[in-house]
Amino acid sequence: MRMPEPDGAVLARRTQIAASLRALVPDVRVIDHPDELRPYECDGLTAYRQPPMLVMLPETTAQVSRILGWCQAEGVKVVPRGAGTSLSGGALPLADCVLLSLARFNRILSVDYDDRLAIVQPGVTNLAVTQAVEDRGFYYAPDPSSQIACSIGGNVAENSGGVHCLKYGLTTNNVLGVELVLMSGEIVRLGGTTLDSPGLDLLGLIVGSEGLLGVVTEVTVRILPKADAARALLIGFAAVEDAGACVAAIISHGIIPAGMEMMDRIAIHAAEAFVHAGYPLDVEALLIVELDGPEAECGFLVGEVERIARANGAVLLRTSGSEAERNLFWAGRKAAFPAVGRVSPDYYCMDGTIPRRRLPEVLSRMAALSEQYGLGVANVFHAGDGNLHPLILYDASRPGELEKAEAFGADILRLCVEVGGVLTGEHGVGVEKRDLMPEMFTALDLDQQQRMKCAFDPGQLLNPGKVFPTLHRCAELGRMHVHRGALPFPELPRF
Ligand SMILES: Cc1cc2nc3c(=O)[nH]c(=O)nc-3n(C[C@H](O)[C@H](O)[C@H](O)COP(=O)(O)OP(=O)(O)OC[C@H]3O[C@@H](n4cnc5c(N)ncnc54)[C@H](O)[C@@H]3O)c2cc1C
Repeated sequence: MRMPEPDGAVLARRTQIAASLRALVPDVRVIDHPDELRPYECDGLTAYRQPPMLVMLPETTAQVSRILGWCQAEGVKVVPRGAGTSLSGGALPLADCVLLSLARFNRILSVDYDDRLAIVQPGVTNLAVTQAVEDRGFYYAPDPSSQIACSIGGNVAENSGGVHCLKYGLTTNNVLGVELVLMSGEIVRLGGTTLDSPGLDLLGLIVGSEGLLGVVTEVTVRILPKADAARALLIGFAAVEDAGACVAAIISHGIIPAGMEMMDRIAIHAAEAFVHAGYPLDVEALLIVELDGPEAECGFLVGEVERIARANGAVLLRTSGSEAERNLFWAGRKAAFPAVGRVSPDYYCMDGTIPRRRLPEVLSRMAALSEQYGLGVANVFHAGDGNLHPLILYDASRPGELEKAEAFGADILRLCVEVGGVLTGEHGVGVEKRDLMPEMFTALDLDQQQRMKCAFDPGQLLNPGKVFPTLHRCAELGRMHVHRGALPFPELPRF
């Protein structure tokens, strides 16, 4: 993995930098012993590892502001980190960086049931938000499978999704405001506690910005009342393509399920052996479709989905008869990633999105790629959103297999772009998909995106080496090319 060259002058000052930061924010824990840095050397993309120069664990916005301001003045890189579950290497440290852990920002600050919102610190786990409000019949809708561990700050940075995002939206649709510390140390507030705020929608820019534009120190999230009724269906198919066609048919019928997930044979068997969710073992593909709403609407939609499923070749149909059974149906899906980890020494989780109607074609082309590379692939994914998560099975102890898995993964993502989709659905670009960005964006697109980065972080010190395949200096991007004396856009006033 190609990363920005470590700054030798910074590394030479390592001890002095640690001492200066300790003096700057005496209450903040600074970790610089090599053994204690090890736990921070990677995130969920464990193929890449690099211990940081040092780790800091602030717990107030003022401390974050002082640290960032000092690092900018001293030319020291900073990598923000939530819970470290990113699957795209977003929180991968650099050898010469300060890794800024937000783990101590772990308090729920307030809950307002009348306005249906909660104000939380970024280190609070996704699940803890729901747990804090569920006794009043509320929940936080975006539910990544990692919700027991991942932080809200990380969710904001990655614009994370989950099973229920098909109907209730991704993180970006459920965040009302953030407090953000810029690399300069300046503290800004974007959005607020109402549905819209005056000015440019900079909140929309921050959600999904992968820790490149600022450090989120407070998040205002929407909370929703739980639906009156929810029922889940298990729908089995003899062919993966039939399941893909059923997904497209349900949506084109005008039904938006609360969740619609697909698992293929390998994933079904792995999840069943792990969780005993009662999944059928004689089908090639399984859909879990959840319908929710008022009791009458829910019952009607269950009937409609059953009818559509039969018309698309379903060979098994089961509807949850109780809340316990519905949770059991989901338990297998939510544990599918670790379950696949039991059937293969290693797996590489990809994340790309395609138009739903191309699902059957993409699934069969992925099967052909699997043959070509000689590596198995398990599919567990958010079918309703067209968000694929192929898990490429490999053995890292066999020389060359990681590289083969990476090449296979890159081909899958190219396929996603070819059929009109995108490089990522919810895991972000990070370092994993960074070098594939030109598959989707032109050089001009990428320059424009980097100009945005320059507006927030002109020194390119915040999480460098992520998202952009080539780092331009901000001054370079500002340069204007004058060809044979002809100014581009001569009608524009010059300053
Ligand atoms: C088993 C498993 C299942 C998963 N399932 C899903 C899923 O269903 N859906 C999904 O979307 N993702 C999923 N993920 C990926 C991951 O959990 C999400 O991307 C999550 O949002 C990362 O949160 P985190 O707190 O771990 O962030 P980290 O991994 O620590 O960081 C992720 C990125 O956010 C930045 N960042 C973190 N905190 C802040 C902050 N306060 N301010 C600014 N930048 C910050 C980091 O710099 C980095 O770029 C899964 C991961 C695993 C391991």
